[in-house]
Amino acid sequence: MTIGFVGLPNVGKSTLFNALTRQTVLAANYPFATIEPNVGVVNLPDERLPQLAEIFGSERILPATVSFVDIAGIVKGASEGEGLGNQFLANIREAHAIAQVVRAFDDGDVVHVDGTVDPASDMETINTELIIADMQTVEKAIPRVEKEVKGKKKELADLEALKAALAVLERGETIFAAKDKDKLDMDRLRELSLLTAKPFIYVFNSDEGVLGDEARQQELRDLVAPADAVFLDAKLESDLVELSEEEAAEMLEMAGQDESGLDQLARVGFSTLGLQTYLTAGPKETRAWTIPVGATAPEAAGVIHTDFQRGFIKAEIVSFDDLIAAGSMADAKAAGKVRMEGKDYVMKDGDVVEFRFNV
Ligand code: GDP
Repeated sequence: MTIGFVGLPNVGKSTLFNALTRQTVLAANYPFATIEPNVGVVNLPDERLPQLAEIFGSERILPATVSFVDIAGIVKGASEGEGLGNQFLANIREAHAIAQVVRAFDDGDVVHVDGTVDPASDMETINTELIIADMQTVEKAIPRVEKEVKGKKKELADLEALKAALAVLERGETIFAAKDKDKLDMDRLRELSLLTAKPFIYVFNSDEGVLGDEARQQELRDLVAPADAVFLDAKLESDLVELSEEEAAEMLEMAGQDESGLDQLARVGFSTLGLQTYLTAGPKETRAWTIPVGATAPEAAGVIHTDFQRGFIKAEIVSFDDLIAAGSMADAKAAGKVRMEGKDYVMKDGDVVEFRFNV
């Protein structure tokens, strides 16, 4: 899962990015990692993993990861020129979800590019730039697809999907916000990689006032619905980095937060993108794997290796809770909690799996 940060300059993107990526594990096989310095691959905390590792005597634990990309700030007029260059567009197109960082903190010492702290107006500025960039993409595609429809290389429905998308953008709405009510044909729009078609998460970089004010938070949530909102304090997040786990938990609680920014973003990111994790464990390693909700057993196997999917025979599965309750794999088997599932089995979050396959 890759989440790209966008936002106006000076809203706290870099502060948040640096805090989240404190345990950056930069590896060459992650997207962008070799070309972009502003990518952080972060381990997702998962308390199930150490418990499994203990049962199986695993040598190491490999958590699921999330990649954060700190994309340059967007200013008004960016889509017309320099600011929203190709580099920027390439980065943002690769992200699975866009987290728009919005300033909701007051601080006289931190200059706001437009003079005042006004989340609604800031979001409009950013969304307008993304919408204009998408309009340019769709307007360029329409004549090309018209030709292809005439030449019978494409269906008329492809063209209609583009026109419907253009109408949404011309109204000043994002594709993501309008896709259900306008019944947009997302499959036919996919190849354009429209920026505003990506799932949006709004990250309100808040001060104590906002964090302690449920009514204000609800106002902001209503403003961005159906997108999800996360409330955090980037400065606090960066202070937490210096502390031990217990001290950090205590400090978060004092600020009225029951989850760290990373936990919140991971949770909302997973639900926005419809993702879940399953687990594998053995003497070598205990590991979490990310799959879409609704994935079948062979599809889940394919995340480990495409050969596993191709040669899939069956999967031996026990739920995490059943395994922990039994205390060991042998006891779980004796209690009848370990099932053999075939290729139609739909995976559940927390399934502990061993695949059987032909190579
Ligand atoms: P970016 O341009 O969006 O990447 O913003 P930065 O992360 O560079 O932050 C801009 C300024 O705002 C810096 O001086 C930060 O210390 C400050 N800042 C960031 N987050 C917060 C916050 O939550 N509260 C306050 N008071 N200041 C913040």
